[in-house]
Amino acid sequence: MKFFADFHLHSYHSRATSKNLNLESLYQWAKIKGIHVIGTGDFTHPLWIQELEEKLESAGNGLFRLKSPPKEQNLPNIKTKDLDIFFCLSAEISSVYKYGEKVRKNHSILVAPDFETVKKINIHLNQIGNLASDGRPILGLSSRDLLEIVLEKSEDAHLIPAHIWTPWFSTLGSKAGYDSIEECFRDLSEHIFALETGLSSDPAMNWKLSSLDKYTLISNSDAHSPQKLGREANIFDTEMSYYDIFKALKTKKGFLGTYEFFPEEGKYHMDGHRNCSICLEPQESLKFNNICPKCKKPLTIGVLHRVEKLADREKPQKPQGSPGFKYIIPLPEIIGEFAGTAPNTKTVQQTFTKIISTFGNEFDLLHTIPYEEIKSKAGELLAEAIRRLRNHEVNPKGGYDGKYGAVSIFNPGEINQIIGQTNIFGGGIIEKMVQSKSKTTKGGKVIQRKSAKNQSLKPGNEHQMKLF
Ligand SMILES: [Zn+2]
Ligand SMILES: [Zn+2]
Ligand SMILES: [Zn+2]
Repeated sequence: MKFFADFHLHSYHSRATSKNLNLESLYQWAKIKGIHVIGTGDFTHPLWIQELEEKLESAGNGLFRLKSPPKEQNLPNIKTKDLDIFFCLSAEISSVYKYGEKVRKNHSILVAPDFETVKKINIHLNQIGNLASDGRPILGLSSRDLLEIVLEKSEDAHLIPAHIWTPWFSTLGSKAGYDSIEECFRDLSEHIFALETGLSSDPAMNWKLSSLDKYTLISNSDAHSPQKLGREANIFDTEMSYYDIFKALKTKKGFLGTYEFFPEEGKYHMDGHRNCSICLEPQESLKFNNICPKCKKPLTIGVLHRVEKLADREKPQKPQGSPGFKYIIPLPEIIGEFAGTAPNTKTVQQTFTKIISTFGNEFDLLHTIPYEEIKSKAGELLAEAIRRLRNHEVNPKGGYDGKYGAVSIFNPGEINQIIGQTNIFGGGIIEKMVQSKSKTTKGGKVIQRKSAKNQSLKPGNEHQMKLF
């Protein structure tokens, strides 16, 4: 069966996460987004593992179910399609250590099929650092040694390098990473079969390195709040089981690819300095010798630049047997652009509820439901936004040095223009929202929306391919 999975996320025990990042909210948001398998996150944390054991039961396939799923949805009046939600035991470790005269900081995702394996891993790791200090603990051991510990405990437990390109905390990152996966994992490299590309890179960028051809490229949300679930996700066509999922990632058979954030939206796509408001393309940074023109300190080199530095191909080349990917924009961001507000406002939430209740879940809307059906059920404006997303007719603006980028679907003034041409009293969901917003503004004038920087997608746009 075809299903979606998001393995890397966190619980409320991790730093800088939402207080309601618990199993019940994750379950509810998995249904809203349309994701069948979600990571538990943080299985190294003693209180979280206790809660997981209490509330989850084995589904008999290496995955787990919530014993008593919440009856009510946490968004009022939202109706979702019925979906069986499974949990996969997962965690993230931050390894900070010195290797080859350089301080390395690498994040790794761990997964395991049963509590017994998790406990063995935890007992071992607890001798190295304090697992209770954070849902994502910082340990003074190398990624290679962490992998060795995981492999010793069970042949079905796996380590996947997390968000491999982020500058400060990743395996290939510019500040504290390595130049190759092999340099990091040395004699155990053959046990690495998948890499998480992270929000700031997409598979096409990774296809510029022939050394990564053999790896399966996966994507997860790294959610720090339940609403952020499925910012990126993996698509499978296998039996629903832990073992089949990881067999698919090892063999690339039964793995259908990923849903991707536009990489520009990620926090570390471009080079720059957040505090200096300096954001540069790789070529511009090179002109400044990678020094900030404002404060004269070294720039934070982003993912785009780092990929270029390690790339051995002019153009991305999709490895044989690798699946493709599709871009997504979170639905609240799409609605926010129409509303001229942030994605977390009440207006956006009410409209989000209506749209999800109409189509069953977010992933179905973004890439499965036909354009005509969206148009007839929810109106022309939403249909046009989804059409543009599917055709990559969007304007991304790159993030840098920890600041998220943005993607707008419409050019400045264009929404007002489209509204002028369509019958906004025609009853579409977005049309109604726009209509009631304009009523509440003075003189019924349509509100001014935040302007989107009119920046088109990279030329050539190799990643505009029909994938699955
Ligand atoms: Zn991380
Ligand atoms: Zn994380
Ligand atoms: Zn600076």
